[in-house]
Amino acid sequence: MRIFLDGQPLPINVRVSKDILLTLKSVAKTLHWKIWYDTNKEAVYISSQNIIIGEGAERLPTIEEPESNRLTGKVFCLDPGHGGSDPGAIGPTNTFEKDNTLEIALLLKDKLEANGAIVIMTRDTDKDVAFPDASSAEELSARVDLANEAKADLFISIHNDAFTSIIASGTTTFHYGDNESLELAKCVQKSLVENLGTKDRGVRFASFYVIRYTNMPAILIEAAFISNPEEEVLLSCTDGRLKTAEAIFSGIVKYFKV
Ligand SMILES: [Zn+2]
Repeated sequence: MRIFLDGQPLPINVRVSKDILLTLKSVAKTLHWKIWYDTNKEAVYISSQNIIIGEGAERLPTIEEPESNRLTGKVFCLDPGHGGSDPGAIGPTNTFEKDNTLEIALLLKDKLEANGAIVIMTRDTDKDVAFPDASSAEELSARVDLANEAKADLFISIHNDAFTSIIASGTTTFHYGDNESLELAKCVQKSLVENLGTKDRGVRFASFYVIRYTNMPAILIEAAFISNPEEEVLLSCTDGRLKTAEAIFSGIVKYFKV
């Protein structure tokens, strides 16, 4: 990404990231400077004169305003369950858990970032996290390593539940016993059940690898049952995924009391 100040290119070239853009925007705002971002050219134009300088700059949209700064400084590690060679559970109409978890996590990422957070994804495409065709043990430890290395404040693993009977339904949030994880699990579970209208299967202790070995408060969400035809629709449609992401977000906000 090139940065132009009053029409002059700065002698730095940094990778585009929302964090950089928001930082530049907040600096510009403080100094009463104008700022534009050209997505196609990956160029940021900053003007200290309050006038537009930069080729085609008048057409440029301004950088998106964040919804709030209430999660500023917080780092989240989101873990969309399964991926790549591992589809996870498969629904009655052949929908895959790995697709549902990824889309829900990406929607949650947008929401968290719009409120100032930094988000690290264990995967942001349909792939194995460790390497192609990794074993399940290798996958789980790669996910934990990412969260621990990033020193994330919270770790959130997103899954879909499944059972042999199509009647089983509802939402469960798992934790590994420490008070913070339990509190987070309670907030997120309550919000999910209220917003999705799913059966409350409760907050439960579990010794799942990803919540056991992460160094920060960590939960694993079984949002709903992909094996239940009605809940399969909820998990695989855009509206249901958005509702799920927003419900998790509300739970996180409650947990932080912000
Ligand atoms: Zn799963």
